[in-house]
Amino acid sequence: MQTKQYSIKLNKKHEADTVKKQCKMCGKVTVFTDTTIRRHNANGKNIYQFAIYKCPKNHSWNKKLDIYKSFTNHVDPATLVPSEFELIEEGEKISLSVSGSESYEINITGAEGNFRIDRTLADHIEGWGRTEIAQKIKNGHILLNNCLTKPSHKLALHDRISITINE
Ligand SMILES: [Zn+2]
Repeated sequence: MQTKQYSIKLNKKHEADTVKKQCKMCGKVTVFTDTTIRRHNANGKNIYQFAIYKCPKNHSWNKKLDIYKSFTNHVDPATLVPSEFELIEEGEKISLSVSGSESYEINITGAEGNFRIDRTLADHIEGWGRTEIAQKIKNGHILLNNCLTKPSHKLALHDRISITINE
């Protein structure tokens, strides 16, 4: 059976940040709003983190947030997402296969705040509601760190969710 691996970083929702600056496309000073979407670009040993901001006309501006070196004392290697894991960005959803037997693994690479497993999965899996997810948790098709859990369980950093679909 093939296992697809994903990672999700859970962060508290915060007020959208805005910045007044010149928009090259609009040709005037306008207000850019943080879309809360983050991008990581690796360049040699450096990893650059950008926040994507948009002007009212939807032009993008990438604000550089952080530069961190990979595999130094400043970065816990466990917090770096291995390349084989597909990072699910905020607002993105995972599409699970509807045919055949497949298994999925979701790694939690950040958990700032209270995130119930059922709500988190409903927010991140295309077409799955909380009731359906609660049922799969109860019947063991969704496991947390290889153990049975309950729908109200709060997720923590480094938690691993396994999902098995048997058709
Ligand atoms: Zn613009």
